[in-house]
Amino acid sequence: MPELPEVETVRRGLEPVLVGQKLTKVSMRRPDLRFPFPENFSKRLKGQTITALQRRAKYLLAHLSGGEVLVMHLGMSGRFTIVEPPKLSATSKSGIGPHPKIKERPGQFVTETAHNTKHDHVIFETAAGATVTYNDTRRFGYMLLVEGDDLHNHKMFCNLGPEPLGNELHADYLASVARGRKSDLKAFLMDQRIIAGLGNIYVCEALFHAGLSPDRKSATLTSKTGKPLVRTQALVASIRLVLNGAIAAGGSTLRDYKKTDGSLGYFQHKFVVYGREGEPCTKPRCKGVIARKIHSGRSTFFCPKCQK
Ligand SMILES: [Zn+2]
Repeated sequence: MPELPEVETVRRGLEPVLVGQKLTKVSMRRPDLRFPFPENFSKRLKGQTITALQRRAKYLLAHLSGGEVLVMHLGMSGRFTIVEPPKLSATSKSGIGPHPKIKERPGQFVTETAHNTKHDHVIFETAAGATVTYNDTRRFGYMLLVEGDDLHNHKMFCNLGPEPLGNELHADYLASVARGRKSDLKAFLMDQRIIAGLGNIYVCEALFHAGLSPDRKSATLTSKTGKPLVRTQALVASIRLVLNGAIAAGGSTLRDYKKTDGSLGYFQHKFVVYGREGEPCTKPRCKGVIARKIHSGRSTFFCPKCQK
């Protein structure tokens, strides 16, 4: 399942191809993904210019010149493939450097599985001649059209907490929402109303980095007077660090995109604690062994020795 850094990497890869571009044709190969496509989907998109491509939590938001927003979620296995006009591709592949009109292109990276065109479900064509194909093997992804003015009140967005990489996430905020809470830190950080877009993998990584136990009570992020503590600061810094590290890894994987098939979707990323049950802890001088336990049906990986 793509987590926030992967969605952000996809956004950065699509941005130079889509933003400022008019959609000349949008075709669907089936009537639905996880949900049916919106009524007159391709008709409503055709002729629209994409004015901005944003990310909110794990949603991609393509703002259209007509005022609607194309909301895209990658589900479990969604990915995009970009095919550019021959002239642009030839320039990139020659090693001379990117086409002058195309900025740096983080967003094309090695995929876990080979591209199977059988799962190409939506094809966007732009006036510049680029083709952006949405491919989704398991079809848990979806696309919606929402009126831009209604976006913040939409049921998918109205209860989302602040972005983990935005200015609204800071130690004072975490201390205020953690105050008096009985939940453990794992559940607290997984709660999308508290922080939007943090998933299982990066919650494990951030807690490990901050040296905090997933079982610690979230109320311990707050002093008696409601102020943040050193560990609250450390947690915020760790969340940013692990996410930014993964986004940077996504970008650097992509610099090598000559070897790839132009797909945007998933990258192999080395985790420090996630998926490492039984391996020695990597913290200097810690002799701990990474353990796994289940919190709300999801595996949590942690070091019982240095995470307190
Ligand atoms: Zn350790």
